[in-house]
Amino acid sequence: MTSTQQKGLSRDRVSNSSDFNFTDLECALCHEVLWKPVACQLCETPFCHPCIHQQLKTDLKCPNGCNFYIERKCPPFISKVLSRLQISCFYKPNGCQQVLNYDALEKHEFECQYQLVPCSGCELNIMKTDLTAHQLTCKAIKVICKDCRLVYKRGEFSKKHPQNICLREQIRQLREESVENKSTIQMLTNQIHDLLSWKNRISQENIITFDDLPSMTEETIWIPPIYKGLKWSKMVYMTREYAAATYPTSGYMAALISGSNHHIAFFNEEASISRDGPNKIFSLISLTACAAWNDNLHLTIIGYKDSVKIKTYTSKLTFGKPQIVLLQWQNIDKIVFQPTGDTATHLENHELGDTHCIITQLIIDELV
Ligand SMILES: [Zn+2]
Ligand SMILES: [Zn+2]
Ligand SMILES: [Zn+2]
Ligand SMILES: [Zn+2]
Ligand SMILES: [Zn+2]
Repeated sequence: MTSTQQKGLSRDRVSNSSDFNFTDLECALCHEVLWKPVACQLCETPFCHPCIHQQLKTDLKCPNGCNFYIERKCPPFISKVLSRLQISCFYKPNGCQQVLNYDALEKHEFECQYQLVPCSGCELNIMKTDLTAHQLTCKAIKVICKDCRLVYKRGEFSKKHPQNICLREQIRQLREESVENKSTIQMLTNQIHDLLSWKNRISQENIITFDDLPSMTEETIWIPPIYKGLKWSKMVYMTREYAAATYPTSGYMAALISGSNHHIAFFNEEASISRDGPNKIFSLISLTACAAWNDNLHLTIIGYKDSVKIKTYTSKLTFGKPQIVLLQWQNIDKIVFQPTGDTATHLENHELGDTHCIITQLIIDELV
């Protein structure tokens, strides 16, 4: 139920009506006080915006006889007089005592607590001001059990959600969770097993920590185009001193503190590592990565051989907490890293959508 949207305002709602001559303020269609006035460009007759647009649906001519209707703004002298009107709220019959300036009326009536709104449960029209209290007791409102998460109508508590159903539902959910947990444990056990079997083959040379790169403390530096026998593209590194001085509260610093690195690598757009030539094949065993600014950074890692995509993996990274991504990709000649948008802002002063991704360690086999 809306008040003033369909046509003009009834004259008896104007509380200071004795101050005005209403002839100029009347809509030529509804004969009430103009609401959201517009006018015909040719004859300047004013109409309520809703009234004339209702009329134009069936007849494109100006109601005053002009051959066609082209809209213009209502003449300023009319708007000026209208803005001096004091109008009582449409919901006065429901108890609203507010009298408002013409220009403030729409906003008030939109928010007025005396309007009727339907209850989402029983669908009865309830006064807005009473809705919260009503919904706290309305029997048709849906509620959710915080123990078993079952949704039921409040009035159907004893039928739909007695204690034995609640308990049974909780047991069912616990069973489901336990199955999930079991499979997670199985997956982790497999990973540990794999890691142990790699461990014997991994020597110190396979572990790339970037710590052997030159320590320049004044700026971030590109990883040299050839490093550890691999080609590096669009990847940068920084030292602990630089991170501490420039981004003390960032994920860069958090990643450095939680590990033993002196340097970390990072990128914020597609970066890659590759190798050409007869000995170009290598294995990416794992990488350790985290997000520099926000949680939920997605890092897609793609493995190529002879320009053919053979492996893809997407990892969800968190702010400042490096996590190991175990890949064990053998026989590849290129790795592409694609960081994409995050959602939650971790630091308020940093803009959303940041894609800065930190790498603290890479384990690569068959390095030359
Ligand atoms: Zn009208
Ligand atoms: Zn006209
Ligand atoms: Zn009101
Ligand atoms: Zn209700
Ligand atoms: Zn329950």
